[in-house]
Amino acid sequence: MTTVLGDGMGRGADPGVWPAYLALYRSGELADRARSARARLRSCTLCPRECRVDRVAGALGECHTGAAARVQGFGPHFGEETPLVGRGGSGAVFFAGCNLACVFCQNHTISQPGEDRSSGSRGRPGEAAGATAGTAPPGRHVAPRALLWEVTPDRLAAMMLELQIAGCENINFVSPSHVVPQILEALMLAVGGGLHLPLVYNTGGYDSLETLRLLDGVVDIYMPDMKYSDDRAGERLSGVPDYVRCNQEAVLEMHRQVGDLEFHEQGSNRPHLVGAAFHRERHRAAGGARPQVARRGLLVRHLVLPGGLAGTAEVAAFLAAKVSRDTYINVMDQYHPAHKAARHPELSRRITTDEYREAVRQTLAAGLWRLDGREVAQADRPPGNEPPGNEPPDKKRGVP
Ligand code: SF4
Repeated sequence: MTTVLGDGMGRGADPGVWPAYLALYRSGELADRARSARARLRSCTLCPRECRVDRVAGALGECHTGAAARVQGFGPHFGEETPLVGRGGSGAVFFAGCNLACVFCQNHTISQPGEDRSSGSRGRPGEAAGATAGTAPPGRHVAPRALLWEVTPDRLAAMMLELQIAGCENINFVSPSHVVPQILEALMLAVGGGLHLPLVYNTGGYDSLETLRLLDGVVDIYMPDMKYSDDRAGERLSGVPDYVRCNQEAVLEMHRQVGDLEFHEQGSNRPHLVGAAFHRERHRAAGGARPQVARRGLLVRHLVLPGGLAGTAEVAAFLAAKVSRDTYINVMDQYHPAHKAARHPELSRRITTDEYREAVRQTLAAGLWRLDGREVAQADRPPGNEPPGNEPPDKKRGVP
């Protein structure tokens, strides 16, 4: 490695937290997984698009990413779901490119960076990649530590270790589906440097089963989107014809691997000397309460779209019937017209309060009850007006 930031294998790790990848690393299985993943770049079938281009030779598929991962920024992120943030923030690594092409993407400067350039420097599928200046990730909670395009495994590993040293609770790979081999190669180096944080796979939810199986025992927290329940919407708005089937199969596989979301009271990352004051300050700001932090499991994100385009009732029904009624879900209300949304009249406005309330009602009515920020969603509901049959079991009261 060009940069050594770790303090030794596992040293400093909370003994109550044991990311499974440490066992795979020690057995040699993690290295085998990295090699298997890298081999798939030769005729890329990493995701359901199955472009079959030779990314090692520099060809580009629909994700416009070649042999090396591109990172647009990294840093502690305090805008993620509360269970990911804890005291130290979620250690976000924003990958450039994406295997989806959502017309309303709110991170389009990162996920589809070529779309906004007048220079036309973005490659087309089958062309070699070209280096271009980057754009910082949005969001006031992110303090980017790098503005890079292509990163070596060494550099990516060093980013993970820097995030650990900064006190982050986890490593949060944002849009990782098209760079799984690069992540696994970097993880090998990071674990050798002392990484011991849980890994978050923060995906648009269009993932192949074969790739996910390479991550079995590697990823601790899966955070997929469930964007639609109608393939016509997926094709028109995200550019893929089979989102629903692929998404549902992927979520089932993720849940098989990690189960429902579990918490522990204290983050997995001990504050080190440099960050101790920072952690004390956050602890005071939180009223002294110890935040519950996600340890392992599935966390689904569902962005409510105008006019019911996201198919909330069907998404919730699938989760409750096929995955688990204890699925932790964030029903998100922050849709706003971005990127190319203005070209689609039905997407050219924010959602209304009534639309969001209806989405929450549908989610609860399906039998799901672990809603992120549920107390906020229910704040204006008259006391005692709980939808029948959706009260959480007593044994689980108090769990976020
Ligand atoms: S990861 Fe990229 S190149 Fe590979 S199949 Fe998916 S979109 Fe195509």
